[in-house]
Amino acid sequence: MSNLEESALGSPGDGFSSCSEGHLQENQPPLLAAEEPPPYEVLNAGGAAKIIVVCDHASNRIPRSLNNLGLDEFSMRRHIAWDIGARDVAKFLAPSLGAPTILANYSRLVVDCNRKLDDATAFRAISDGDDVPGNHLLNATEKQRRADAIYWPYHHAIASQVDRLCDEDFAPALISIHSFTPFFDNSHRPWEVGILWDNDPRIAVPLMNSLRDKGFKIGDNEPYSGRHPHDFTVDYHGEKRGLPHASIEIRQDLLPDTDSRRQWAVTLADCLQPILENKELYRFFTDTPGA
Ligand SMILES: [Zn+2]
Repeated sequence: MSNLEESALGSPGDGFSSCSEGHLQENQPPLLAAEEPPPYEVLNAGGAAKIIVVCDHASNRIPRSLNNLGLDEFSMRRHIAWDIGARDVAKFLAPSLGAPTILANYSRLVVDCNRKLDDATAFRAISDGDDVPGNHLLNATEKQRRADAIYWPYHHAIASQVDRLCDEDFAPALISIHSFTPFFDNSHRPWEVGILWDNDPRIAVPLMNSLRDKGFKIGDNEPYSGRHPHDFTVDYHGEKRGLPHASIEIRQDLLPDTDSRRQWAVTLADCLQPILENKELYRFFTDTPGA
């Protein structure tokens, strides 16, 4: 079992016996039909920039074999299924940074690529008040089928880009793009953009300063905290490997259309470029407990 698999599987006894690509039981029908999109998309795969952009919640697509998980059109378009607008921001940001960019192609409701597989929210049966009928009483075999078809290929694609750009003395940067709903738990979220981080301030702090200088209302570890153990992608591929990193969360009412998403990518590129131009950035961070 690889380090990735051990980390994502969580504690022993989580119900996944041998969860990785190629271990699917022979009598399982495939989750994705041959003509459906692959589990992830890579832009600028051979990009020379030493920066990797990822977007875990880029799509609300559900494999046809899962019959929309029993959800209606309205629920499918809600934030529960994806991070509205985040895919476009990542796609527009990729060329301006010249960064290889990995986008997940299926909904977080099929399997949440930003969770460990034993996390209670990895396969949500209820999300922000909406029932997800197709996720009730999922057994370990079905969870494994989804993980094998979508989760592992996505994470292996990120790991292979990190491996390609890392060397002994060089740590590429990892930037994760998300978006968040403006209303949650009956309250309005005032932050326009949130930066999530934990121990490594190298990108997060100057990025927040730069966004503040442009007049944005910043959430420092809001609306979610980068210190929360729920997150997986940046914790595993970035923090654990000592890469400079940050997660960026943009409020969804500021991403209503293609123009606004393109403008956010321009803003982020403006703020990130001076930070990413600093050659001192690309060192492995060692101030992490246990690193
Ligand atoms: Zn997200």
